[in-house]
Amino acid sequence: MSASKIEWTEITLNPTTGCDRISPGCDNCYAMTMAKRLKAMGSPKYQNDGDPRTSGPGFGVSMHPESVLEPILKWPRTSRIAFLDSMSDVFDSRVSAEFLGRIFATMALTPQHTYQILTKRPNRMRGRAGAARDAGNAAQPSPRRPGVACSGDAHAGHSGREVPLAPS
Ligand code: SF4
Repeated sequence: MSASKIEWTEITLNPTTGCDRISPGCDNCYAMTMAKRLKAMGSPKYQNDGDPRTSGPGFGVSMHPESVLEPILKWPRTSRIAFLDSMSDVFDSRVSAEFLGRIFATMALTPQHTYQILTKRPNRMRGRAGAARDAGNAAQPSPRRPGVACSGDAHAGHSGREVPLAPS
């Protein structure tokens, strides 16, 4: 977890890191470039290499259980705007449903924070939010500020324009 220089958020959280390219909009993925640099610097979260055809050095999809509880442990009382997974796509198919459940449970336990999630995988996001609603499980809400960032007419990505899926 770290303070962010991104103007529309306060902090970034990365309970998962790494990703696989899914559309042409990934061609200039800043996270992939940054992961390579962080791997070379020895950063522990970025030592897992991804498939070179779709990912890169230090950018293999990795789950970090120690990071999931950071909002609870570090800011129990203050309110923060947090960008979840600036170095990944939390809805990547390699992120297990169980791990995703842990992340959503943490969000539910910390309603004082506003979570911003961008994804190129809106179907999994929609499915995850729908399953929680169908179960009537208040502890598994949809993200507070979900979004799909579009980089072109047909593709969505992290690096382009944000299109909210639901009101915040
Ligand atoms: S989905 Fe996002 S994080 Fe993943 S490769 Fe594409 S731009 Fe990068």
